[in-house]
Amino acid sequence: MGRIVAIANQKGGVGKTTTAVNLAASLADAGKRVLLIDFDPQANATNGIGLSESNGAGGIYDAMGQTKAPSDVIQDTALEGLKLIPSTPALAGAELELVDVPHRESRLKNICLVLAEQYDFILIDCPPSFGLLTVNALVAAESVLIPVQCEYYAIHGLGQLMDNINRVRRIYNKNLSIEGILLTMLDARNNLCNQVAEEIRMTFSDRVFSSVIPRNVALAEAPSYGRPVLTYNNHSAGSRAYIELAHEVLKKREVFSDHSPLAL
Ligand code: ATP
Ligand code: MG
Repeated sequence: MGRIVAIANQKGGVGKTTTAVNLAASLADAGKRVLLIDFDPQANATNGIGLSESNGAGGIYDAMGQTKAPSDVIQDTALEGLKLIPSTPALAGAELELVDVPHRESRLKNICLVLAEQYDFILIDCPPSFGLLTVNALVAAESVLIPVQCEYYAIHGLGQLMDNINRVRRIYNKNLSIEGILLTMLDARNNLCNQVAEEIRMTFSDRVFSSVIPRNVALAEAPSYGRPVLTYNNHSAGSRAYIELAHEVLKKREVFSDHSPLAL
């Protein structure tokens, strides 16, 4: 049974999609069977991996609406072992359309449960808000990976996010654990950035990944070529950082193979 990981932070532009795409690619490169679910109407992960929801094949919106079977909306990617369920702008309507539907928060969970046997990891790229889509992702997930950009408001935002995660935990998903907080777009020459990173490590200690993601131009360029950084420039610092993160995630999984949730 695969591990289901939501990649979430209600703050925009912190590296959620970059992390979802490149961690997924690095786990696939390590021989794991990985499914990436693009759960953001912006469809950045879908486009960044060089795909689109074309010719009516359908995407996560259709599976959420139960007009298509989950297995029918899965697409192959250029990487062996990495599959994708694409997103479309229509997904933005799902929040409204599901408003009166019973168990609307469990739609994605039901999709993941159908597919989990076939994958070692299901990664869910969340949108930058804490609406019904992100709640669905956190109800479906066993753990949440939180990318954080080291800037002045990061700690404040993290506190709010932890409160929201705790709320979801209490109401819907008591087993939800923190996969880890990931420091992204780190610029070692920037003092404020270093200070914030240090503060996050002091506050959240072992919940912060040892691996950090540097600010790296290859990571920003790769999506415009429709590729994960691994196949765009595998010598780049960005590629090495996501490979290291994948190893850390795999190692943690061995240590916590009983899936015991880390304390929030
Ligand atoms: P949103 O909240 O809109 O979904 P996000 O949290 O998914 O955004 P990304 O799209 O991953 O964030 O990143 C925001 C921008 O920063 C993108 O243009 C991306 O290419 C760039 N970026 C992300 N990580 C890095 C990095 N480590 N180095 C350089 N650029 C980066
Ligand atoms: Mg994104």
